[in-house]
Amino acid sequence: MDTIFGDDILDRPREACGVFGIYAPNTDVARVSFFALYALQHRGQESAGIATSDGVSAAVHKDMGLVAQVFTEESLARLNGHLAIGQTRYSTTGSSHLRNAQPYLIETMHGPLGVGHNGNLTNSPDLRNRLLERGVGLTSSTDSEVITQMLAAPAQGTTEANPDWEARIQHFMAAAEGAYSLVILTSDAVFGVRDPKGFRPLCIGKLADGGYVLASESCALGTVSASYVREVEPGEIIRLDKDGYHSISPQRSSPPSLCVFEYVYFSRPDSVLENQTIHRVRQRLGEVLAAEAPATADVVVGVPDSATPAAIGYAAASGIPYTEGLTKNRYIGRTFIEPSDQLRKSGVHLKYNPLEANLRGKRVVLIDDSIVRGTTAGPLVTLLREGGASEVHVRVSSPPVRHPCFMGIDMADSEDLIGYIKTPEEIRVHIGADSLAYLSQEGMMNAVTQEADAGSGHCNACFSGEYPIKLDKFWRDRDKLAFQGAWSENGEEQ
Ligand code: 5GP
Ligand code: MG
Repeated sequence: MDTIFGDDILDRPREACGVFGIYAPNTDVARVSFFALYALQHRGQESAGIATSDGVSAAVHKDMGLVAQVFTEESLARLNGHLAIGQTRYSTTGSSHLRNAQPYLIETMHGPLGVGHNGNLTNSPDLRNRLLERGVGLTSSTDSEVITQMLAAPAQGTTEANPDWEARIQHFMAAAEGAYSLVILTSDAVFGVRDPKGFRPLCIGKLADGGYVLASESCALGTVSASYVREVEPGEIIRLDKDGYHSISPQRSSPPSLCVFEYVYFSRPDSVLENQTIHRVRQRLGEVLAAEAPATADVVVGVPDSATPAAIGYAAASGIPYTEGLTKNRYIGRTFIEPSDQLRKSGVHLKYNPLEANLRGKRVVLIDDSIVRGTTAGPLVTLLREGGASEVHVRVSSPPVRHPCFMGIDMADSEDLIGYIKTPEEIRVHIGADSLAYLSQEGMMNAVTQEADAGSGHCNACFSGEYPIKLDKFWRDRDKLAFQGAWSENGEEQ
């Protein structure tokens, strides 16, 4: 595809993001959205934005950077109304452009239309082409703009006098494939939409003073004094308006495919998914890991913060005392934000210091939640040895990441995934550990599903290579390696 964006289109970001929506009369919805996005900051650190509407006109403020860098009292004061959506966006290399920041806000015949998206549409090249053929110009490489433009066109059977947003959303859902949790702003309602597989999370909260909110994770609800109502179901459309919240026709595509990586790494530990607290699930991952991959050691150390619950679980199940062995500088950006491998390597040293008092002379079990590209674990092992550890046994509370994600988490291409190109023993040598073991896939799925809601289902394609949706040619061409053997010449599944 040759476009003015050049590489940008091919290098397009996978949009793992945080989204928020609110309908609340007599409330400073921009300020509430700001604090909600603050609580969702871990889901995206590249750009942030809020769009509001007072029922007649709408405004948006978005920029590159962290939530606290993007908004000021002045910019919030210009965002008036009683409806708002917000987004905090994640991206890795490339495509770090303001034009990709969200939410998208356009003017339609029926007033403002704004969209914030978390996920990745797997047939977006096709959807983009269909829009271009209709003469719709696109200004960015994001799915959100495609979604906004698709919703701007009347669905079949609707009239100009009645925008019938539900019908338009259903029309979009019939054409879209892949992962999407959406917040949509119109002049008189805020919608929340979850794709039929439920890849990415989305939940509903109730404000004490009236009104409802939508958020990617329940951790944002407490921050804005909203109580948890329930998850938006896979395939469900939720409408927030003056009468409260309404559910529209869940289009279930069973079983659901909630991303297992939300449990492993992505979600905040105090969030609840499928009725279970993430922290509890991570602890269980550590407990199962201890049973599957014991080690003879003096202390258990987790890589803060995401592996801390698994380390606590490993320690409890193994009887080896848990201790802190790495201190993290919480004010240094996440290493994933750094553009090059070189910078990511030094990023580890910028981010952690070894706690010598707890390490000297000790045999250490180091727990991390995942090994993706494999650039983090090696420097961490070195740091622990510099801090005096006599042995370092690395235990990972998920299986090797071997396959790219096309559903919204940035997992690179196969050749960048160390679990794809090296065996566990080669990885052990690469990271310089005395021993290395991963959690089995069965162990992970048991830990994740043990207390989950009945009827839950998960996507674990990054570990198993089993994609719950058929990927179109664009993605297969993009990562031929990943599909060697899985696809025959004519693109049919084998
Ligand atoms: P890698 O193996 O790619 O060097 O990094 C693995 C480390 O990155 C683990 O400590 C894990 O907690 C963290 N990690 C895994 N997935 C992601 C992600 O999508 N974003 C960020 N920022 N960190 C991640
Ligand atoms: Mg980590």
